[in-house]
Amino acid sequence: NRSERNSVVFLRAREYKDRVAIVDSNGSHSYERILFLSQAIGNSILQRIRGRDLSGRCVAFLCPNDVSYVATQWAIWRNGGIAVPLCNSHPTSMYDYMIQDCNSDLVISSSDYAPKLEPLARGQEVTIMFLTDVDQVLTSANQMLSSEELTAVEMAEQCWDERNAMIVYTSGTTGQPKGVLSTHGNLRSQITALVKAWEWKAADYTIHCLPLHHVHGIVNVLLCPLWVGATCHMLPKFMPDKVWDILTGDEPHPSLFMAVPTIYSKLIEHYEKENLTKEEKENIRFRCEQLRLMVSGSAALPEPVMKRWKEITGHTLLERYGMTEIGMALSNPLRGPRLAGSVGTPLPGTEVRVVTENVDGEKEVIAEGNEHGSHVSSFNEGREGELQVRGPSVFKCYWNKPDATRETFTEDGWFKTGDTAAYANGVYSILGRTSVDIIKSGGYKISALEVERHLLSHNDIVDCAVLGKPDPVWGERVAAIVTLSPGKKLSLEDLKRWASGFMVPYQIPSVLLVVEELPRNTMGKVNKKELRTVYFGKE
Ligand code: ATP
Ligand code: MG
Repeated sequence: NRSERNSVVFLRAREYKDRVAIVDSNGSHSYERILFLSQAIGNSILQRIRGRDLSGRCVAFLCPNDVSYVATQWAIWRNGGIAVPLCNSHPTSMYDYMIQDCNSDLVISSSDYAPKLEPLARGQEVTIMFLTDVDQVLTSANQMLSSEELTAVEMAEQCWDERNAMIVYTSGTTGQPKGVLSTHGNLRSQITALVKAWEWKAADYTIHCLPLHHVHGIVNVLLCPLWVGATCHMLPKFMPDKVWDILTGDEPHPSLFMAVPTIYSKLIEHYEKENLTKEEKENIRFRCEQLRLMVSGSAALPEPVMKRWKEITGHTLLERYGMTEIGMALSNPLRGPRLAGSVGTPLPGTEVRVVTENVDGEKEVIAEGNEHGSHVSSFNEGREGELQVRGPSVFKCYWNKPDATRETFTEDGWFKTGDTAAYANGVYSILGRTSVDIIKSGGYKISALEVERHLLSHNDIVDCAVLGKPDPVWGERVAAIVTLSPGKKLSLEDLKRWASGFMVPYQIPSVLLVVEELPRNTMGKVNKKELRTVYFGKE
């Protein structure tokens, strides 16, 4: 269907005209205004490079989390470029790595970031273009532009689906970040799957407090609302007091909220510190119940967080599973039971399967399914294997890494996620990354995520990371690195005694380290490879 294949967020925006697309610290911005802005930014880029369009070019951009991000992204897309979002909290060396890796010779940014970007321009053949303040761009452009105007690429493009849209770098949890190239068709599938499953509609209003260089922040919380003509309230960064204010404030009232587990933990922490009265607590709960959906993802949601959030707000968080390479693949239901520790079933358009190798080294499919249902034999129920994904949401390739791309797909076109999963009782659950979360100890395979789930139910343990410590006898030993509530102490003997009541013996940690803080990245993830090197030396 041609019109569907031609569906992109900035063309749809024309229909939404003066509806509010973005709210940020400068006020409200209509869809029309963002189209103007992107037209103006696009024109100044073309002037600067003396080009007709940006076809096939990687354009890196570093913007604050506000309307200028959206307008710049659209300016790049509307002129045929590949948008490469940079993270505003990364050090210059990371920009250097990414810009070189994707051979971008053009960076769009605002002068706020000049000190971090200028060293780049000195070292490489890079043009850095600083946008003047958004209002200025608009006033100087207003007279000449109309939101009806199309760019040369928009006029010529017959099918956006095939066109390269974006390179997003993976979190770098397991190595150097890899550039994931997605087409506009990939993005369309990723967006429409969520629009359908979570029933996004024009009347929705969401809060955005995530980084804008990962699919969670880009696709789930920004492009989904913009796709349907809804409103996205962008905060410059995550601030617990600000988020609580919006969640519990008067008009306009949000209808959806999405975040990573650490954000929910921080919101809970802030709530507990406030010494709220009974009435205030009731009011918070009442206000939160006006939202129709709250989602968690990007890392495993600890059960105590899920439970406490439910007590405070009345919401059972919907946990979903996704990756830079595939968008979202599995989700708990919008309507229907949401199981703690599970990531639900396949999203529309996505096929998933769990695969293992049998004793003869042959591939064996344990479970397989799509949005309509999954199959598993009673023998395979709950067995673990690698999660593989196929469908139109799956990315095109790793940028400039043909070997890595080849290795990550099976011969029959399934993407190998590198995550271990199991299917039981009608839902999939993620046991962790095969490379760091599946601990092999004395012949057992132990899921670090499962051990973490247990440890977090201990009253004094605030945060934890479980990993395998290399060991000559056991292969690996289960090691727990934990942070404790203020003033608390915990010895390995205490922990063992406490755990022996309910944990499987081989799951119980035999190494315990108490630390001040666990290093988490902007998405709240722990880099276990790095932790292992820091605490247990090189492998
Ligand atoms: P890199 O690929 O560079 O090592 P990364 O895999 O962390 O980094 P992302 O693509 O941002 O980069 O993260 C995807 C990963 O996040 C998944 O492979 C999975 O391990 C984890 N993940 C996402 N959602 C969940 C979830 N609900 N439960 C458990 N793990 C999750
Ligand atoms: Mg990954």
